Amino acid sequence: MEGKKKYLAEERYYGEKVTAPQQPYGLPRKEIEWYPRIDYGKCDPRACEYFCVDYCHMKVYKKAGDRVVVDDPYNCNVPSQSCSPRCPKGAIIFPSKDDLKRQLRELRKRYGYAPSNT
Ligand code: SF4
Repeated sequence: MEGKKKYLAEERYYGEKVTAPQQPYGLPRKEIEWYPRIDYGKCDPRACEYFCVDYCHMKVYKKAGDRVVVDDPYNCNVPSQSCSPRCPKGAIIFPSKDDLKRQLRELRKRYGYAPSNT
C-alpha cells in the first residue's frame, strides 16, 4: 500500500445529479466512447455498499437489484475517471488515454475544431 493514496468513504456524494457537457472539446459526446465498464468478476457491491453509485455526482451508475450497472454512460465527464481508483475491488475499467486521444483525433478530422458548447 505504500505510496498509494487511500480513498475514503466520506467522498460519497448525495447531491443532485450533475449534467456533463454534451459537446466536450466541441465534439458530440455520444460519439466519444468514454465511460466506465464494470468487471463483474471483481465487483462486490455488498463489500463497498455501492460506493460508485454514491460517489459519482454525474449519476452514471445505478443499483439494479443486487448489482450495479452503468446506467447513463454518456453523462460521464470526459476525461474523468476518478471513480476507478476509488473502487475497492478494482472493478471499474475505462478506455486508455491513448484510445481517447485516437478517438478525438478521428472526430476532429470529421468535425474540425469547434468551440466548446455545453
Ligand atoms: S464497481 Fe467497485 S465501487 Fe462500484 S459497486 Fe462494484 S466494487 Fe463497488
